[in-house]
Amino acid sequence: MAQPDISHHLGPSDSRLIGDAHLYIGGEWRGARDGGTRELTNPATGEVFATVDEATADDARAAISAARATFDDGEWSSTSVTERAAVLRTIADLLVRDKATLARLETLDTGKTLAESVIDVDDVESVFRYHAALIETSADRLVDVGDPAVVSRVIREPIGVCVLIAPWNYPLLQMSWKIAPALAAGATVVAKPSEVTPLSTIAFVRICEEAGVPPGVLNLVQGAGPNIGPVLTDSPDVDLISFTGGLTTGTSIAQTAARHVTKVALELGGKNPHIVFADADRESAVDHVLTGVFLHSGQVCSAGTRLIVQDDIADAFVDDLVERARHIRVGDGLDPTSETGPLVSRTQLDKMAAYVRSGIESGAVLRHGGGPPDRDDLHPGGFWFAPTIFDHCTRTMPIVREETFGPILTVERFTSEAQALALGNDTSYGLAAGVRTADIARGERMVRRLRHGTVWLNDFGHYTPRAEWGGFGASGNGRELGPTGLAEYQEIKHVWHNTSPTPAGWFTHREP
Ligand code: NDP
Repeated sequence: MAQPDISHHLGPSDSRLIGDAHLYIGGEWRGARDGGTRELTNPATGEVFATVDEATADDARAAISAARATFDDGEWSSTSVTERAAVLRTIADLLVRDKATLARLETLDTGKTLAESVIDVDDVESVFRYHAALIETSADRLVDVGDPAVVSRVIREPIGVCVLIAPWNYPLLQMSWKIAPALAAGATVVAKPSEVTPLSTIAFVRICEEAGVPPGVLNLVQGAGPNIGPVLTDSPDVDLISFTGGLTTGTSIAQTAARHVTKVALELGGKNPHIVFADADRESAVDHVLTGVFLHSGQVCSAGTRLIVQDDIADAFVDDLVERARHIRVGDGLDPTSETGPLVSRTQLDKMAAYVRSGIESGAVLRHGGGPPDRDDLHPGGFWFAPTIFDHCTRTMPIVREETFGPILTVERFTSEAQALALGNDTSYGLAAGVRTADIARGERMVRRLRHGTVWLNDFGHYTPRAEWGGFGASGNGRELGPTGLAEYQEIKHVWHNTSPTPAGWFTHREP
């Protein structure tokens, strides 16, 4: 069984949250059936800092069986909403207690700064409190069918067994957007975090166990997506697959799930425009464009990677951006002076280098970055990449069309509102967009016509658990958060109750 060696980063009480076995199936912590493990790499050093158990296909099948048996047994799904809400609130309380530990684990796994990880854990807590309140206030809908003897009502029931697959950029937060509504609805779960960043989810599942989530309700298998993914997504015992990740993986999951007509909710990538009109407040515009693309080193699905700026101000605006970008402090996420961390893996680092080559070859003008930051105090093994700005980009360039998922900003220019709108919608994705202008009528016109799931007007990057999150087009289907997000985890049943039965009276002919 794997023994994580993270003592040089975490104290003994912190290691308690990881434990010495990392798969949780049917209420039991165990190692992989074949004893397999995976080493985790600290993105700030490139060094292995922990080893976790890695599930086999058989482990994944066992997790689905446990979730299925627990759901069919009906005990969890038939608990009162008050009881389930209480469990969710206890989870939220324990998240507060263990915030520092969870944040450190998230930083070690992902590389993001500790400040960002702390915000993530705060957000996870809010997600659980919100869903506790939401499920308590959910009500059946009565339908008037025009017959006083009939009580017709539409009720919502838990959907069943949910496979929840999350990416590596916001491991715990993205998983919480799925686990909170699933538990609130009374469903059972098989959770699969990214193999690259499983620690916070392992710790979180231990918190759920302590909070009183019954055995078999929440099962955890971490393992390589290509190995256990097909088992999790090709099963008649699964009722919903909720996936957040890349377009290619999402498309293949949807194809696999179609074999069993399994419901699929997809939160995929984005290539998000940030449109700046000349009349926008300059200082906040520059600041938000910078934050919107370089926070978490651009590894954010809603990152504003396409700056679309009005021609009159473009040169000066880009100069301001370059000046600000030069001072962004990239460094180890555990160092409190770092403003953004390394990339998550060497794979991502190589990907960024390839996009820089592609940008230059396609004629874009590299104004800043393009490689590791110019610093000699960073660990040589870390996956460092400086904030990068390409000016004079056009819509046909791969760096403009493809999701780079890293700290690369492209700049396109426009002259008219119609052109700005056309550029903003010129993407197969449709996750998020920003518009900055002092002309509110124009801003509202843009908001209405941009084909993106979230549009920020004179702001960027915010979300709330109370409002739906999701994408148009290739950014996915379904929504997370808000009442619609909870509804993904529910089946709808219409109950027609005749309180005064009489014969139907249709077939009235009788043989003499
Ligand atoms: P991937 O699609 O590579 O992986 C996402 C998850 O799917 C991981 O847990 C991965 O496991 C798993 N997986 C991989 N292959 C399979 C398979 N065949 N079957 C089932 N599961 C599989 O995405 P990344 O982790 O690289 O995440 C980045 C992507 O996520 C970006 O495109 C980003 O835009 C998107 N994203 C979207 C968000 C949104 O709200 N719309 C939010 C955050 C990210 P493993 O890692 O272990 O291989």
